[in-house]
Amino acid sequence: MTYGPEQRERVGFFTDTSVCIGCKACEVACKEWNGIPDDHQGFTGESYDNTSELNANTWRHVAFVEQRVPLSADDGEGDLVKVAAANELAQENGGMAADGGMRWLMSSDVCKHCTHAACLDVCPTGALFRTEFDTVVVQEDVCNGCGYCVPACPFGVLDRREEDGRVWKCTLCYDRLKDDREPACAQACPTDSIQFGEHDELLTRARARVESLKEQGLADARLYLDGPGDGIGAAGAFFLLLDEPEVYGLPPDPVDTTFDLPEIWRAVGAAALAVGAGVAAAFIGGRR
Ligand code: SF4
Ligand code: SF4
Repeated sequence: MTYGPEQRERVGFFTDTSVCIGCKACEVACKEWNGIPDDHQGFTGESYDNTSELNANTWRHVAFVEQRVPLSADDGEGDLVKVAAANELAQENGGMAADGGMRWLMSSDVCKHCTHAACLDVCPTGALFRTEFDTVVVQEDVCNGCGYCVPACPFGVLDRREEDGRVWKCTLCYDRLKDDREPACAQACPTDSIQFGEHDELLTRARARVESLKEQGLADARLYLDGPGDGIGAAGAFFLLLDEPEVYGLPPDPVDTTFDLPEIWRAVGAAALAVGAGVAAAFIGGRR
């Protein structure tokens, strides 16, 4: 789909988790600007994170990953048996390594505004649509609450609001974009962990940042959802992570769940033709 002369440059978010301080100003700004109702608040008993997940009433979620730094092969002078024993001992001691060895990773998660967005493909009412900024938005006055899009999203972003049955998610502040304003979360972030801008320019900035972190010794720094080779054809909202995506609760190999649909429909069509041909042949044969 194209908007002709109304089409704008693709915009998105580059979330640099290496500078996130977990203040949750982005979550608050998102709620305030979009008038999102209250959500669960309180200790889960698992983490200092009090919002837990993305859902219909939490469109930005700052994940707190509090964990013991796993020992690497270097810690056992190359002896993996020693490393495994040390890891096991640390686990028995309440998950703490002898020297503490804890780390906190923080990452502000959001809808990825996928290039190949399965949510949009399965929506029967057109409530989900791609904007002129190449972002993915739900129109609340069109959504009928069928929920088809909920399991289609490979990131578990979509959720129905209990009170009205409709689906709600990040709009990348579509209303603000139309006024040439940056999204509320990016404006509120005090460390520039959330950066908003033209997608290509953000990608260039993100790649330079990864190189710089690697030079500083952070060998595991990497970009997530930055390339067209991934299962969603790259995301409008991509991330700089300091470890594997799974550590942050993100799927390592997300795939557009409608990717195989054309192939499936081709197979169904061929099967239907074969059945039709068989029935016709039987009918003609029976008349002879
Ligand atoms: S598939 Fe999920 S992550 Fe991708 S645009 Fe839709 S809701 Fe967002
Ligand atoms: S506002 Fe910025 S620093 Fe604070 S939690 Fe959100 S992303 Fe992290």
